[in-house]
Order: sequence, then C-alpha cells, then structure tokens
Amino acid sequence: MKPYSRFLLCGLLMGALAGCAEKEQVLQNTESNPPTQAAQAAKVHWSYEGETSPEHWGELEEDFGTCKVGKEQSPIDIEAADVKKDTNLSPVEVDYSPSEVSLVNNGHTIQVNVSGENNHIVLEGKTYTLKQFHFHLPSEHEVGGKHDEMELHFVHKTEDGDTAVLGVLINGGAENAELNKLWSRLPQKESEEAVAIDGKFDLKALLPGDLHSYRYHGSLTTPPCTEGVQWIVLQQPVEWSEAQISAFRSIFPHDNRPVQPLDGRTLETEE
Ligand SMILES: [Zn+2]
Repeated sequence: MKPYSRFLLCGLLMGALAGCAEKEQVLQNTESNPPTQAAQAAKVHWSYEGETSPEHWGELEEDFGTCKVGKEQSPIDIEAADVKKDTNLSPVEVDYSPSEVSLVNNGHTIQVNVSGENNHIVLEGKTYTLKQFHFHLPSEHEVGGKHDEMELHFVHKTEDGDTAVLGVLINGGAENAELNKLWSRLPQKESEEAVAIDGKFDLKALLPGDLHSYRYHGSLTTPPCTEGVQWIVLQQPVEWSEAQISAFRSIFPHDNRPVQPLDGRTLETEE
C-alpha cells in the first residue's frame, strides 16, 4: 500500500468512527430525559429477599462495597451493657413545624418528602435540616436483641453534607390520628410520581414526648451503606394502631437490614 492510500484509508476509518461516535452522542442528547449517573445507580436492583438481599448488597455494584467491608455499619443491636452515659450530651433539640409533604413508594419503603428548609434538629450545637422520612418493618435497630414492630427514620443533612438520622421505634397500641393524613393516601405500587398530601402535616405528632436517645456513628441502612452518619435512636417508642402497622405491612412485608457488628464503637446516651 502506498503511503498516500494508507493515509486516505485511515482518514476514512477515523471519519467513520467519529461519525458513529457523533451519532451516538446525538441519540443520547435527543432522549427527552437522559438518565443522570445517580438515577442509573439508583436503578441497580437491591431488595430484602433472595439473590439481591442484604447479604449480597456488597457484591451487586462497585459502589455498594461499603455494605460488605464497612466497619461502622447500621443498624445495630443496642445492648444496655454497651451504652455509656455521657454527661456532656444533652437530648436532641427538635424544631419541626407543620409542613407540606408528599409520599413516594420507591419500591423499598414509603418515603415522605418534606418541602422547605424549615425543619431542623440541633445536636451538640450543630444544626441539621430535615430532608425526608421513611419507614422500616420490623424495626432495624434492636434493643436487647429484640425488634420493635416498626421504625421511622427522619433523615437530616447539614449544609456541608453531614447526615444525621433520628430513629423512632414504633409498637402496636393507640392509633396515631395525624398519621392517617398520610396513610389514607398510601401509594400501593412503586412509582416515581409523588402523591401530594393536602394541607400541612404535623411532623411532631410522630415523635415521643421524651427525646432521650442512644447515639452512635454508623451508616445508611440501604445501599450504598455510606458511613459517617450520626445516629440518634430515641429510647421511648411511639404507638400506632395495629391497623396502621398492617397497612404498611401489606405493601412492604419486611424491609429491614439485619443488625451489624458494633465492632468496638462507642454507644452513648445523655444523662
Ligand atoms: Zn431508614
């Protein structure tokens, strides 16, 4: 082959390849809603059963490795013998007010998105803003080796991106009237569409009267199991009626990650 022909062939090949690449680019760009990286990661199937259950989360996706190798994972079993009183701690300050909320069935739980930035907790002088809350059945944390019937997680973030989760244990008993505002609109099927709740929802109605807690450093309890999460598990459980608990169970028969080793971490409580 003459040098000239080789040059021409390369040029043609490169042109063709570039053409292909461009076409792909155009195709991607013309998609009305190109998936973001985060959305694609969220689509990795994980669950609470079978081959995608918690024991396998660490192998399902590169980003999920922490679920397997992390040393500060949540939830945990809270054993009285491990809990140390810290006189420097004071109970969490909760500054929630009635807010506009919407419900999403994300296939793993019912998530309640809270609009605005008006709901906060203050922990040892640090302010965290409430983003969403959601539910697990049975409870994810155990106390003395025992599950409660359900657990509610209020998820907060600081401006710097630090996460604090406030956990509330739930047992059968009296009906929670305020919860009916949400439960009357429970989305039965997984969907990206949020169900808006009319009026304002009183977030405080989901909290117990006593805000003494167990504190420890842990992780998200769902993939990617990110660590560096400040956990505040309230000691006093709240009551919901068995009908309210059953309504959640009929959609999510169980959605709890099993307890993880404490592994020498400090578990503290206020005086
Ligand atoms: Zn949770």
